[in-house]
Amino acid sequence: MRFSIRYKMLLLVTGVLVVAMLSYLLLASTLFQRDKRAFIFDLNASIAHTLSEEVASAVGSVSDKLLFYVAASKAQKDPRATLMKVFAGEPDLLQISLWSKQGTSFARDATLTDAPRLAAFNVTSDDLETAHKEHPIDFDAVLATGRFVANASVAPDVSLLWLAIKDDDRVIAALLRPERLLRIFGESGAYVAYLVDGRGQLVVHPDPERVIKHDNMRHLAGLDAALAEKSSRAVVQLRERDGQTVIGAYARIKDPPLLVVTETPESEAFNASRELIKKSALFAVGIVLAAMLVSIYFSRRLASPLKRLSEAMTDVGRGEFLVNVAVESRDEVGVLATAFNTMASELQDRDKRIEQARDQLIHSEKLAALGALSAEISHEIKNPLTSVLGFAQIAQKSTDLAEIKEHLATIEKQTKRVRELLDNTLRFTRVERNQNEPVNLNDVVGDTLKLVRHQLASQRIKVQSTLCDGALVLGNAGQLQQVVLNMVMNAQHAMRPNGGTLTLATEHGGNGSVCLKIADTGSGMDEATRAQLFKPFFTTKPKGEGTGLGLSVSQTIVEQHKGTIAVESAEGKGTTFTITLPRRS
Ligand code: ADP
Ligand code: MG
Repeated sequence: MRFSIRYKMLLLVTGVLVVAMLSYLLLASTLFQRDKRAFIFDLNASIAHTLSEEVASAVGSVSDKLLFYVAASKAQKDPRATLMKVFAGEPDLLQISLWSKQGTSFARDATLTDAPRLAAFNVTSDDLETAHKEHPIDFDAVLATGRFVANASVAPDVSLLWLAIKDDDRVIAALLRPERLLRIFGESGAYVAYLVDGRGQLVVHPDPERVIKHDNMRHLAGLDAALAEKSSRAVVQLRERDGQTVIGAYARIKDPPLLVVTETPESEAFNASRELIKKSALFAVGIVLAAMLVSIYFSRRLASPLKRLSEAMTDVGRGEFLVNVAVESRDEVGVLATAFNTMASELQDRDKRIEQARDQLIHSEKLAALGALSAEISHEIKNPLTSVLGFAQIAQKSTDLAEIKEHLATIEKQTKRVRELLDNTLRFTRVERNQNEPVNLNDVVGDTLKLVRHQLASQRIKVQSTLCDGALVLGNAGQLQQVVLNMVMNAQHAMRPNGGTLTLATEHGGNGSVCLKIADTGSGMDEATRAQLFKPFFTTKPKGEGTGLGLSVSQTIVEQHKGTIAVESAEGKGTTFTITLPRRS
């Protein structure tokens, strides 16, 4: 497959950029993710810690109030009225109960509820009693730690929690709605926080259903250790929530024993890096597109002068040297264009010189042919001149007017003959360059024969010509005559000394061509001669008789006329040259 420079450049730039962008994205997202993960660990730990402190202070504030009012009520005449004041300051409080030890167990001494508040929250006293029955206070725990908080929720929809405080040998217990604590644990998109009691049960969770179901969270990794007071704070990687990995942190509250848990899905870290990758990928696509456009622009700028150069080179290859490539830049391409223009103009000069040399060669060969004919021509002129002279002398002596007229007519005829011969010769010697006009091959044959007629006859050579109609070609009559003359002279040489028959024929060939056949019955040629026939300066004739340029020049002329020369020859039997030229339509 062949790719242009433009595509190669485009592929290269795009490839490099894509690889660079991908590696950058990979590196950035890995680093970012690692960093984000560490951040999530830290964030969880610090949130859990803060929440634990808030929970401790909230629980502490309620317990302090309860202890204060219980203590205050002891000295009062109507302790209940004093105790009821606690409800005013604690909107989450639904019930207070006072317990004292009776033998081994605790018995309830008093129960205080705020009836309007229960009604307002759609909670009945029965619900509260159910809480007492189904989720009783763990008095051992109260005695052991002084304070106790636990889940006291009642199905199907009452979220409640126990707060029990040891007060000397008595226990003050309160049933509370979890609202205030829930506010502390208010949900965020990034994490979920909840409160677990000393037994591992959910106490406060943004999802109330889980609290009402008394979900046990002991299955969480590290939770047991945290509950067993082995660590007060921990950050762990939990495998939880629908198989998703969750990063969690614990913070333990000592009194009452509670555990704040925060959880963030690890995918949060991925989300952020995914967002980064998404944005960066968009950016990268933009950069790659921009780079592609820029590289298309520049490669086009680079390739178009190269294309022009290659087109110009094709022209030069065809022999059209008159080209000039515009030099638009000073870079390597510009230098190349300049060098190319110089080369083209030098080629043009050289072509011109070659053409001149060829014309000179053709002309000098013509003169050489003429030189060979000069004796013949002077003979041709001398003969009529002699008779002109003779008849002039006779006419001068004659007195018979009719006889004188007859002699003058002969003189005129002979003079015309000389003039015709000289015209023919002069026409032949004329330098005619680059003529491209209709030429009748039959006329070329006739004119040539006029030049050599006498010579052929004197060497006992019989001339036969069979000419067809419409043997018209386009070209230079003088040059074509030069070709025919050379062939006729060659034939004449080959038929020395015994003479023979020279046949000249024009006929229509295939593909709209005209053929001129020049056949002799001379010596013919051997293989070696035939092989070198058209080479310049190849001759088998003695010095002074042949230049060896005749056929080489003939071939040049015929090729200039877009034609061909073929030769057939058998030793001792003769030779036939066939010149095929495109017929003028
Ligand atoms: P030149 O006539 O000066 O020798 P040419 O190029 O005309 O040069 O011919 C080259 C050679 O080809 C001749 O020397 C001759 O040996 C051979 N040749 C050309 N025409 C004929 C022919 N009709 N018969 C035999 N040999 C020929
Ligand atoms: Mg010759």
